[in-house]
Amino acid sequence: MRGDVGGFWPGVLAELVDLAVPRVCGGCGAPGVRWCAECERALHDVPARIRPTVSVGVPVWTLGRYEGPRRAAVLALKERGRADLARPLGRAVAHAALRLGAWGELAPGIALVPAPTTRWAARRRGGDVVTAVCTEAARCAAPVRRIAVYPALRSAGVVDSVGLGAAARLGNIAGAVRVDGALPPPGAAVVLVDDVVTTGATLRESVRALAQAGVPVAAALTVAAA
Ligand SMILES: [Zn+2]
Repeated sequence: MRGDVGGFWPGVLAELVDLAVPRVCGGCGAPGVRWCAECERALHDVPARIRPTVSVGVPVWTLGRYEGPRRAAVLALKERGRADLARPLGRAVAHAALRLGAWGELAPGIALVPAPTTRWAARRRGGDVVTAVCTEAARCAAPVRRIAVYPALRSAGVVDSVGLGAAARLGNIAGAVRVDGALPPPGAAVVLVDDVVTTGATLRESVRALAQAGVPVAAALTVAAA
């Protein structure tokens, strides 16, 4: 009987959690699943090369427009505590990075560097979501290819750039990205990763900060482009 009880309670707990947290797809709201097959497919489109308003200095790739399941998943992960969505987003980032490698856009030895998050933003969101996505990407790629993650960028004292134009965003972020932490080894194919690229200002400052630290960036890759 003890064994039955031991197996019973975790099951009840899981069901209670399911009752407390509505089980809906983080991409489209479909009931019954946390992430549906259709949203998974939508995220696995081939990466597209884009040219943001601000010149980033390296090729910028994105998984697609900031709409549909990409937008919903990013917002739910960042603003609504859906930490589980780091996994499908990480999977998509891994697939895109491996595809860029297969296309010859990235040398072997891929190192992901998450774009910087302000401390208060990381706290508010219950952790740095871009680093979580990169960590899941590395975990997903592990059976076929080693992808390393270096959360080495910090952004201090930057106000939220929502609603600012390109020039204001650039002024807002200029010089505010600093390197703090372990850096990718020489020769790594360094990929700067962010959730959404808007003007490219954050990517540009991040590329510049890494270059100043002696780390050349090969490409930037974002989940979505606004
Ligand atoms: Zn869905």
